[in-house]
Amino acid sequence: MRLHPIDSCGIMLSYRCQCGCRHCVYACGPRWRDWMSKDTLEGLLAGIKETWVYPRGLHLAGGEAFLNFDLLLFGVEACRRLGLPIEYVETNAGWCVSPEVGREKFNLLKEAGLFRVLISVSPFHAETIPLKRTLWAIEAAQEVFGPGNVIVYMSQFIPLIREFGEEKPVPLSKWLSRFGREKAGRLLWEGYALIPGGRAGIELGPLAPTRYRPEDFAGQTCAHEILASRHAHFDPYLHYIPLFCGGLSLGQFEDLPSFVNTFDYRKLPLVKFLVEGGPWALAEFARQHFGFVPRDSYAGKCHLCVEVRAHLVKTGNFEELAPKEFYENLRSHLPPLEV
Ligand code: SF4
Ligand code: SF4
Repeated sequence: MRLHPIDSCGIMLSYRCQCGCRHCVYACGPRWRDWMSKDTLEGLLAGIKETWVYPRGLHLAGGEAFLNFDLLLFGVEACRRLGLPIEYVETNAGWCVSPEVGREKFNLLKEAGLFRVLISVSPFHAETIPLKRTLWAIEAAQEVFGPGNVIVYMSQFIPLIREFGEEKPVPLSKWLSRFGREKAGRLLWEGYALIPGGRAGIELGPLAPTRYRPEDFAGQTCAHEILASRHAHFDPYLHYIPLFCGGLSLGQFEDLPSFVNTFDYRKLPLVKFLVEGGPWALAEFARQHFGFVPRDSYAGKCHLCVEVRAHLVKTGNFEELAPKEFYENLRSHLPPLEV
C-alpha cells in the first residue's frame, strides 16, 4: 500500500486561533504562537502544484487565518501566481467587528484573487464569537463575492443560536440547560456530524449519543484515511497530516513530490498499526507495552486513537506524534464543561 498523491488539501497557516473550540480536530487555540513563513508557504504551494494530478482545490485556513491577514493575502496572491485553484478561505469571523471591516478585508482578498469563502457558525464557535459578528461577515462576504460563493458552515445553527441572543457569546452550558443533556448531546454530535478526533472526543465525548467499547473498533483500519483519501493538511511546521488526523504526522518534508513518492508507512510504527489494524490495534500495543488503560467506551474510533496517542506521546519515542503541542492543547482554554 502506498501513499496516494493528494488531489485536495488544507493549508494551516497557524494553529493559533482566538476561539479554542471544544470540537477542534487540530486542537487550535490562543496558546499557539507560530505562523508558517512566507518562504515555506511558497515552497509548499510549488510542491502541491507538482504533486497533484487531478487538482480539486485547496483551502487556506488556520487556526484563524485572518489573525495574520498579511500572510493570508500573500497566500492568496501566491496561489494566483502559480495558477493553483483555491476552493475557499476558511474563517470563524471573530475579527468581523462591523460590516465595513468585513467588506474591507473581503475586497482585499478578492483583489488578490479569491472568489469564495467559508464562514463557520456552530454552538462551538458561538462560545467565543457573538452571532452578530458572524452575521456581519456573512452579509459582507455575500456582497463582495456573491451569495453563491459564501459557504456558511453550518447555517442551520443560526436560528438556534439567535434564540440565545446575537450580542454575546453563548457558553455551551446554556445548551445543556435549555435542552437537557441527552437532546443537547444529539444536537451537538449529530447536528454537526462531529468528527470525534482532536479535542472533540476529549471535551465533548461524555455528551456523545452513542458510545462504543474499544473492542468494537477491532478490524477497523485507517488505511483509507491515512494512505488513500487523497486529502491532507499541511501545518506551519510542514507536517503532512493525513485527512483530518490532527496530531498524526506522516513526516516533515522539504520536497512534497519526493516525500509522496518515497513514503513508506511501515517505517513509522504507530502509523503501521493504524494502517493495518486501526486504533484498536494501536490501543492493544499501548496496553501491552506502555501501560495504557482503555476507558469502557469512546465517542468514536478517532476518540480512542487520540487518547492512545496522548498516552504514547509521553514516552517521547514516536516521531509521528507531532506536533507535540497538539497533545498539550487537547484541553480547551475554555472553562470545563459540567456534564
Ligand atoms: S474549529 Fe474553532 S478553534 Fe479550531 S480553528 Fe476553527 S475556530 Fe479555531
Ligand atoms: S482513528 Fe486515528 S488515524 Fe484513524 S482516522 Fe481517526 S484520527 Fe485518523
